[in-house]
Amino acid sequence: MSAIKGQDPQIYEAILNEQKRQTEGIELIPSENYVSAAVLEANGTVFTNKYSEGYPGKRYYGGNQYTDVIENLARDRAKELFRCEHANVQPLSGSPMNQAVYLAFLKPGDTVMGMDLSHGGHLTHGHPVSHMGKLFNFIRYKTHPEENGRIDFDHLMSLAKEHKPKIILCGYTSYPRDYDYSDFKKIADEVGAITMADIAHIGGLVAANQMRNPFDFGFDIVTTTTHKTLRGPRGGMIMCKKEFAEIIDKSVFPGLQGGPHMNTICAIAVALGEAQKPEFTEYAKQILKNSKKLAEELMKRGVKLVTNGTDNHMMVVNTIESFGIDGTVAEKLLDTVHLTVNKQVVPDDPNPPLRPSGIRIGTPAATTRGMQEEEMEKIADWMYQTLKNKDDLELHAKIKLEVNTMCPKFPVPGIAGN
Ligand SMILES: *Cc1c(COP(=O)(O)O)cnc(C)c1O
Repeated sequence: MSAIKGQDPQIYEAILNEQKRQTEGIELIPSENYVSAAVLEANGTVFTNKYSEGYPGKRYYGGNQYTDVIENLARDRAKELFRCEHANVQPLSGSPMNQAVYLAFLKPGDTVMGMDLSHGGHLTHGHPVSHMGKLFNFIRYKTHPEENGRIDFDHLMSLAKEHKPKIILCGYTSYPRDYDYSDFKKIADEVGAITMADIAHIGGLVAANQMRNPFDFGFDIVTTTTHKTLRGPRGGMIMCKKEFAEIIDKSVFPGLQGGPHMNTICAIAVALGEAQKPEFTEYAKQILKNSKKLAEELMKRGVKLVTNGTDNHMMVVNTIESFGIDGTVAEKLLDTVHLTVNKQVVPDDPNPPLRPSGIRIGTPAATTRGMQEEEMEKIADWMYQTLKNKDDLELHAKIKLEVNTMCPKFPVPGIAGN
């Protein structure tokens, strides 16, 4: 970074501090990860200089012979990994990718069904504060509190028959279970709706065949971010059956966006190349093993998890029930011992979103560093001790030291000398 260092010391200092923060603590936010050195390099290449509105072979600017190479590679790799007929790799992130799908099929006021945010859905799944929630008529379904958070498909079927949605959307940002996509498909077929799965969080686990792939159940549209378990740069992808290829492509460009970020697409192509390797399958398996272990160790200590366990890379702790403190206090306490998590609403949370009843924890980033079950046991105990003894500053200092001592044994990829 000699150029930044010489030219802009303030920014340089912030970058160094962020590098230090990312290495000396343990990242447990389930939507975050560490990209490889190759992905970081690709993200910072000269493709950042290039305009390439349009698609490979049909651009609105000259000089696109090499952007075509990388975009074609990214699309082909996505199609192979997710076993789909078409992929669009241009969405600038997860939210615009979902917007592009809605805008492709819906008119203002049309009905969509998606999971309620407090039960695990994303803001873009129709939360009233999002523009999408205002533009379209979202009917939000929920999970069963008694049945470990299973989705109530009988209720979903009756809602679908009543409201006749044009799209039935499944997918989540804070739901620790896998889905039975065939139930969604059955309901969508019954009412003539398009099936859409937003696998933003679990994209890497699906690519590695460690979680169910919605295309295997006949889904029409699958969206994913590229920066969560898929371990690429920040971006989004829309994958679909061939019959929807044209309408999706037109919706992304020129419908919603202008020039794609070709440096990001370059890095997406590199990340997808990594995801095709056997090491990535091992990585995905280890994420799941670590998640199970962390959940078990927390529950063993009496910690209350929403849905009483996990099938994926994340879990949600009800900190009010477990420790008598809200998620904001828990997040701050864990920050002081360098364990990074995020506050999280629980199903039908009686508390407001800035003081919710829980925290969300995930294993993708720690697993990238090579942490395994043994480390998960330690992390569970550190978390438990910190939250249980919330006023014991001496204990917190001791735990922080233990965290900082363990971290250098697990270097973060792409950061020199850590
Ligand atoms: C993260 C996420 C998104 C949005 O991604 P951004 O890149 O933050 O816009 C969309 N859907 C789901 C389910 C997510 O988890």
